[in-house]
Amino acid sequence: MLKKLFKSLRSPLSLKRQAHPRSTPEVLGPRQHSLQRGQFSRNAVGVVDRLQKAGYQAYLVGGCVRDLLIGVQPKDFDVATSATPEQVRAEFRNARVIGRRFKLAHVHFGREIIEVATFRSNHPQGDDEEDSHQSARHESGRILRDNVYGTLESDAQRRDFTINALYFDVSGERVLDYAHGVHDIRNRLIRLIGDPEQRYLEDPVRMLRAVRFAAKLGFEIEKHSAAPIRRLAPMLRDIPAARLFEEVLKLFLAGRAERTFELLVEYDLFAPLFPASAKALERDPEYAGDLIRQALANTDERIALGKPVTPAFLFAALLWPAIPARAAQLQARGMPPIPAMQEAAHDLIVEQCKRIAIPKRFTIPIREIWDMQERLPRRQGKRADLLLENPRFRAGYDFLLLREDAGEQTDGLGDWWTDYQDASDSERRSMIRELGNRQEEDGEGGAPARKRRRGGRNRRRGPRSEAPAGE
Ligand code: ATP
Ligand code: MG
Repeated sequence: MLKKLFKSLRSPLSLKRQAHPRSTPEVLGPRQHSLQRGQFSRNAVGVVDRLQKAGYQAYLVGGCVRDLLIGVQPKDFDVATSATPEQVRAEFRNARVIGRRFKLAHVHFGREIIEVATFRSNHPQGDDEEDSHQSARHESGRILRDNVYGTLESDAQRRDFTINALYFDVSGERVLDYAHGVHDIRNRLIRLIGDPEQRYLEDPVRMLRAVRFAAKLGFEIEKHSAAPIRRLAPMLRDIPAARLFEEVLKLFLAGRAERTFELLVEYDLFAPLFPASAKALERDPEYAGDLIRQALANTDERIALGKPVTPAFLFAALLWPAIPARAAQLQARGMPPIPAMQEAAHDLIVEQCKRIAIPKRFTIPIREIWDMQERLPRRQGKRADLLLENPRFRAGYDFLLLREDAGEQTDGLGDWWTDYQDASDSERRSMIRELGNRQEEDGEGGAPARKRRRGGRNRRRGPRSEAPAGE
């Protein structure tokens, strides 16, 4: 397919080690690529037309050009222009200027937002007085503010990957390629523009983006772009927790969460994001790995089916394997099992939020899903029916199945609840009677028992059906 898209291009370019952006782009005319203006969002094309009519340069850029060249439906449409955010706002009544670290304009069309970014220039390395309000660097080289405007050429250079530095000119239906991005699309490579180490130092989040695009597109990270990642991964610890929350959501909600997780672990990027979970993975790779992978596979499956997914469920799963060891420590200091579990859960969330700022609207349902794990074994009397009415029951039940899939021993609790939900009133009464005098402590053991089930994992029951929590 890709071969067909670029059939009329010259043979592969021989690329040097680094992708050096060129000052004049390779221009692909309408017959040299497959893109047509009708494939892009009408609103985005309208924004470009309007800016051009007002005398500015404007192009569709980034993910939408890349994805359409590959044959993937873009998730959103970004515009790059010579107009400043204020000039964009002056052109569109429905535009708002947003951002501080990176100022841009959002043009609103109902639910669709077209992001319009002004051409940027590469960062001045020295401390140029004049630019210091517009741009700032940390002593590590990390860019703190990036509001120095520039030309189309400079804009291409400061983009992250070659495949993201492609510009589509809607009026001539031409693709402008400044960094051999078309070549890398053809060879399915994620390659940083410029010196990889320096580009990661400027913005360590680019390491996460490399993994995200590699997983999403099924591309490989080109070897020179991959080489510094493990060494520089700890730099993610310096990224503001709020930005990391946004990035982590993008990582796990793009439909390839399981593959993304594999790559994060492979490149040592998982530990700086989820330190406690990474330790749990080291201690008990099979159980923790199974539980996390299974949760991510379910998420991918739900996204493929167009079903809603809740970040709370995802974070609940990513963090759960870290609870038992903490609870055990507290128990060793004399705390009873249930309070120990609860305190462990509380501390874990507080600690995790220092790294990734998970908003309250998610931390509350995470705790509820976990609390439900202690309540599901206790079914006597009216408890089972009360639990069924709990708005968090479904997520709690799904989470229980997930734990069982990962090999946790729960004495058939998941099957019991599956049957109970389908049972008639009288069947339900007899199920409760059958529980008889079984000790309620059945499931009150605090830290989850983890005897491995024989016969292996993956008792898949299709995608989980947890209701969206908190959003
Ligand atoms: P998608 O929207 O599918 O996730 P995208 O490539 O559009 O992918 P965005 O985060 O929307 O990603 O960013 C738009 C464009 O802005 C990118 O294609 C890239 O050119 C540029 N960009 C985004 N983040 C960075 C960054 N951290 N460093 C350099 N360039 C970036
Ligand atoms: Mg985008």
